[in-house]
Amino acid sequence: MKDLQSSLDRPALLSPLNFIDGEWQSALSGETFAVHNPATGEVIANVPDSQPVDARAATDAASRAFPGWREKLPKERAAILRKWYDAIVANGEDLARLISLEQGKPLAEGRGEVAYGASYVAWFAEEASRIYGDIIPQQQRGKRMTALKEPVGVVAAITPWNFPLAMIARKIAPALAAGCTVVAKPAEDTPLTALALLKLAQEAGVPAGVINIVTASREHAAPAVGDWLADERVRKISFTGSTAVGKYLARESAGTLKKLSMELGGNAPFIVFDDADIEAAVAGLMASKFRNGGQTCVCPNRVYVQSAIYDRFADVLSTRVAALKVAPATDEAAQIGPMINARAIDKIVRHVEDALAQGARALTGGKRLTDVGPNYFAPTVLADATADMLLFREETFGPVVPLFRFDTEADALKAANETPFGLAAYFYSQDVRRIDRVSRLLEAGIVGVNEGAISSEAAPFGGVKESGYGREGSRYGLDDYTTLKYVCQGGLA
Ligand code: ADP
Repeated sequence: MKDLQSSLDRPALLSPLNFIDGEWQSALSGETFAVHNPATGEVIANVPDSQPVDARAATDAASRAFPGWREKLPKERAAILRKWYDAIVANGEDLARLISLEQGKPLAEGRGEVAYGASYVAWFAEEASRIYGDIIPQQQRGKRMTALKEPVGVVAAITPWNFPLAMIARKIAPALAAGCTVVAKPAEDTPLTALALLKLAQEAGVPAGVINIVTASREHAAPAVGDWLADERVRKISFTGSTAVGKYLARESAGTLKKLSMELGGNAPFIVFDDADIEAAVAGLMASKFRNGGQTCVCPNRVYVQSAIYDRFADVLSTRVAALKVAPATDEAAQIGPMINARAIDKIVRHVEDALAQGARALTGGKRLTDVGPNYFAPTVLADATADMLLFREETFGPVVPLFRFDTEADALKAANETPFGLAAYFYSQDVRRIDRVSRLLEAGIVGVNEGAISSEAAPFGGVKESGYGREGSRYGLDDYTTLKYVCQGGLA
């Protein structure tokens, strides 16, 4: 921990404690759990292993703070969010170091995540003043009807490990802009960045109780979060993570009928038609597939290439993939870091072994890189992938590109949509009619057309089908944190 603090320009950013009601505190039990560096497996810090009683204290604080925060003028909330944004940017290098240290992504990507996460805070600071309602055109004499947007109340934010800063920022920022208060639990693998972010929020003047955070081990996550699910004061859950846990949260919170946002798993198709610019398609695939070592929910999981260009595409792609530099985040030249933990590596190994056993060919990679460290997997291209393989049905979440062959547009669309998931989808084509048709027919919340980098704070991010519901970012992102109140005033001659 001392080593870790000395690697930061501002050691005080690292506060391995819960933040409840404006105070940094241990779990009531005093228990802690270890956070590891995925590059080496070493313990880098110990943070509170919270229990329901700690989660309850967070809800008490958020609930007490709600009336005061809701009553602030939107521009007062915006000013605080703007200060928070400035603090994130000013401390960007330390935050990037923390992200890379606990999550493993290359430092350049850590810096990118700081800018990306901060952009949501700036965006929602601006949107705070634009939460308009409607004056409904008069329907009956003597009555005025209005529809007002109000904050939903206390929000529980539960976030994953792959973007330790951006995922929590893009939940807390719209919640605060709308006038909600927050209880949050970051992923057990990556709590340190979230805690640093809260430290900056405190310095930016977010009042006590408006944001509260508790950390918990995987074992204690369910009971701690369970307290929020059962508590009627928590009016909304915003979750990003696996579909299995999302369904569980929806089921378990049904007793208090909360508003839900669920940003869940994907199984993104990436289709390359024979009229595509092949160089551009390879570049787009490299950008979207290998971001964060393949560990994002919008990473292409299945790559469909039309028969006529299949071999050429496979050739160009594997040369590029073989040249990727795999190294710890501390190496400035690193392009692919470690996977997050042993569970993640096991899944990748299972997918690749299953594919190879069923006839796939490894054009490059295909194995663990144990000489680099415990959690590394070689960037891999697998030719001759088929729908019988595990990697067709499940998200691999690693640096593995399976190439499927297709003949017609109809075949590609059928295969792309043959999944219960529907988060992102991508395709490359230069035919304007095909672009219109395929964009409409892909069952996904996000479609990249001749583009692999689709994320932006100004765009609505979210899925369809079992990838969930709700949208983050954009002008629609505030809807998830507000409810509509209809006011009918009578007696107006
Ligand atoms: P992943 O498989 O990528 O780790 P998860 O959906 O398991 O994704 O985890 C996402 C977030 O959900 C993490 O913060 C994790 O601690 C939390 N989580 C996991 N299981 C539960 C559970 N049963 N109840 C509440 N939160 C959970």
